[in-house]
Amino acid sequence: MRRAYIERQRQAGRRALAVLPVHHPRELLTAHGVLGVELWGPPGPPRGDGAGRLQAYVCAVARNALAFLQAGGARAVDGVLFPHTCDSIQGLAALAADFGGVAGRTLVFQHPRGGARPSARAFALAELRNLSSALAELTGAPLDPARLGWALGLHAEIDACRAALLDGRARLPMDDAALYALLRRGEWLWPEEHLAELGAARALLAPAPVQRGVPVLVTGYVPEPAGLLPALAGAGLYLAADDYAAVGRRVVRAVPAGGEPFLALVERMLAAPPCPTRGTDQGERIRWLVGLAERSGARGVLVHVQKFCEPELFDVPAIKAAFAGRGLPVLVLEGELERELSGQAETRLEAFGEMLRRAA
Ligand code: SF4
Repeated sequence: MRRAYIERQRQAGRRALAVLPVHHPRELLTAHGVLGVELWGPPGPPRGDGAGRLQAYVCAVARNALAFLQAGGARAVDGVLFPHTCDSIQGLAALAADFGGVAGRTLVFQHPRGGARPSARAFALAELRNLSSALAELTGAPLDPARLGWALGLHAEIDACRAALLDGRARLPMDDAALYALLRRGEWLWPEEHLAELGAARALLAPAPVQRGVPVLVTGYVPEPAGLLPALAGAGLYLAADDYAAVGRRVVRAVPAGGEPFLALVERMLAAPPCPTRGTDQGERIRWLVGLAERSGARGVLVHVQKFCEPELFDVPAIKAAFAGRGLPVLVLEGELERELSGQAETRLEAFGEMLRRAA
C-alpha cells in the first residue's frame, strides 16, 4: 500500500525520502515538495540478513531498519534521511550506505541538544540550511521561502488537530486502535491529506466524556505491536494522555511566530515537548509528564520502551520515582518490535488493569 502511494506521489512530481525516527523538520520537507515516509523498524522479524551485522545489544528499531534497507526496502524512494536520534541511528547512516542499503541519497540532520540556548538556535539554523541545500539538490529546485511559510502554517494546523484529539481524548468516540491508526498515517501521508483526515476526526469530539475505561498516561517510544491497544481495551484501560516519541512528543502546541521562516522553524523545533532523544533536561521532562497525568486524570502510567534503547531507558527510574511519590501505579513494558503482543505482556496488562479498576 505504501509503495503504491509513494509511486503515485512521485508520478505527481514529488520526491520521496525514507526517514528514520524520531524528530525531523517535516515543514522543510513539505516546503521542498518531498514526501517523508517514516521507517519505525518495520516491526516483526528482520526482513533481511542485515540485522546480523549489528551487535545483539542494539535495539530492534535499528536492527530491523538496517535489514529492511539492505534488502532493498527503500528502493521506492529517492534517498534516506537519518536524524541524529541516538548513536544507533547515527551509526546506521554510515552502515546502511556501506552495505548497499541506500539506492539514492543519504541525508543527515543533527538536533540542537540541551534546550533553547542562543548556541542551540544558531546550530539549528545552520543544520536546517544545510538540509535545505541537500533537499534542493535532490529536487533540482531551490527553496521558495514563501513555501516554507506555507508549510509552517500547514504543520501548525496538523499539530493543533493532533493536540485537540489527544488532549480531548476522553471526549473522542473512538477506540485507541482507531485513533492511533489515524495518527500514525501522518508518518507517510502527504500532510494536506493527513490534515483532512484529522479534521474529520476532530469534528467528532463530544462536549462531555464518552470513554468508559480507566484513563492511563503512556510514555515511551512507539505504539508497536499494534496489538497492545486492543489488549489495553481488554484490560479496561484507555490512553488518556500520550507521550510516545512517535506520537504525542512530536506535537508542537506553540503557534509559529511570523517573520523569517527559517527562524520561525527553529523556534517551532525548540518548542516541542521534552524528549530524551533531543537531550532535554530530565527534570523538565518529569514536570511535563506530571502535567499530562494531572490534566488527563490518569490513574496509572504505562512506560512502554524498546529494549536496549539508552535514551528512553535512562529516564525510567526517575519516571517511576516521580509517579510513585504521587501514588500513581507504573507498569514498565519493554518491547522488541514484535509483530504480536506476547502472552506475558498481555497478562501483565490485565493484572495492571485489574489493580487500577479496583483502586478507581
Ligand atoms: S529505539 Fe532508542 S536506541 Fe533504538 S533507534 Fe530508537 S532512540 Fe535509538
